[in-house]
Amino acid sequence: MADHEVDLFVIGAGSGCVRAARIASGHGARVVVAEEYRVGGTCVIRGCVPKKLLVYASRFADEFEDAAGYGWTLDEPTFDWATLIANKDREIARLEAAYTTNLERANVPVVKSRAVIEDPHTVRLVATGKTVRAGTILVATGAAPHLGAQIAGLEHVITSNEAFHLQELPKRVLIQGGGYIAVEFANIFHGLGSQVTLVYRGEQILRGFDNDVRDHLTIEMTKRGIKIVTSQTVDCIEKVEHGLDVVLSDRESFVVDCVMFATGRKPNVQGLGLEKAGVTLARGAIAVDEFSRTSVSNIYAVGDVTDRIALTPVAIREGHAFADSVFGGKPTRVDHTGVPTAVFSEPEVGVIGLTETQAAEHYPRVDIYKTSFRPMKATLAGRDTRSFFKLIVDAASDRVLGCHIVGPDAGEMIQLVGIAVKMNATKADFDAVMAVHPTAAEELVTLRSKAYSVERQAAE
Ligand code: NDP
Repeated sequence: MADHEVDLFVIGAGSGCVRAARIASGHGARVVVAEEYRVGGTCVIRGCVPKKLLVYASRFADEFEDAAGYGWTLDEPTFDWATLIANKDREIARLEAAYTTNLERANVPVVKSRAVIEDPHTVRLVATGKTVRAGTILVATGAAPHLGAQIAGLEHVITSNEAFHLQELPKRVLIQGGGYIAVEFANIFHGLGSQVTLVYRGEQILRGFDNDVRDHLTIEMTKRGIKIVTSQTVDCIEKVEHGLDVVLSDRESFVVDCVMFATGRKPNVQGLGLEKAGVTLARGAIAVDEFSRTSVSNIYAVGDVTDRIALTPVAIREGHAFADSVFGGKPTRVDHTGVPTAVFSEPEVGVIGLTETQAAEHYPRVDIYKTSFRPMKATLAGRDTRSFFKLIVDAASDRVLGCHIVGPDAGEMIQLVGIAVKMNATKADFDAVMAVHPTAAEELVTLRSKAYSVERQAAE
């Protein structure tokens, strides 16, 4: 170790990096971070945080409409995209500065440069050509939008990266994809006043989520006026006089002002010198063990570049566990099971644990409890919307295996109910809790009647 200038060199200054660097430094390691773009990574700069700000912006439209039923008279509200984007950019710049300051306070300098691994103990800074000798290297370079196959007119397509910086709000938007980003942006654009078409190649959006959740959200989004086209892909795009002419695989076509693809993200593994250093990839991501160690013993990787679960809090946990394991003398594995998650759609989705299909595959019999109801606020507002709650229970042990919510504040609710599910709470534990009335969340403790049971099918 003697000839190492630093104990830890981190490539990429996103969520996973920042946590790893600060904790490692706290354990006494000399740490340096290299970042070629902005400090904060996808989450802060062009992901979770700016997205949530746009979600807030998009939800005012309903509030203004709903206010009338509660006795308010408002002038016709107007919306200014440029103001929103400028304010959002200011907040992101503030957060970026705060992240940098936090790293500096932890004695972690950030070098603004791309970094390339030359050998397992040497990193080259592209900006200066300087090399740094490091005891341990952590790759936390995240992932980037992936556009899929080359089609005619692909140059007209934007991704979520560009959506945050559009000059103006497009009047007509077509989004391809049926995952988190596609669904969230469809709702954002719709809430802000755009006419939105969502094109998904499968039969039902949000693959991997519980089927009832997928159905419920599809109905709600459709009621709101979002056109959801399933079992289709975008075939080609052509610039025409008044926009972009998008032709789908069934030859249906739409003229829109903006085409966005949210067709998944790919780990950023290119040009990092991984191959030369001997780091093995698996399905395009860096392969790691349960301690985030790669095939090279002193090179580690955390976050989206490892394609385990591409969520910020997971990357943070992985970064923390890495630092404790390698520099804190406390080997720590991250538990990747039972991770709660939210889709910031309208209405919101919050889920933890198994879907009905997954539960039925793993347990001999599962009991399903579910309800759908009109949220109280919608009554006077006259809004046609429904919330949905579902609990999936192992019939043998009474343990709650999964909880699925679609409705206002589902993200907030699932964080809390997630504690109980992660603690292996039973349905009886849920039922023992007194309801908080009147709330939507009280449904979680008042689901008395089983809807049905699902028996595992015997293997053929
Ligand atoms: P997802 O993997 O969630 O969704 C990608 C979508 O694109 C899927 O519907 C997929 O279809 C479709 N697709 C993929 N390739 C093609 C193709 N060639 N042609 C047509 N459709 C295609 O990725 P996202 O980009 O939405 O998000 C990336 C990740 O970021 C998420 O998985 C999530 O982990 C994270 N994220 C989390 C958020 C949150 O926590 N709220 C918000 C945003 C992102 P199919 O289903 O058939 O595969």
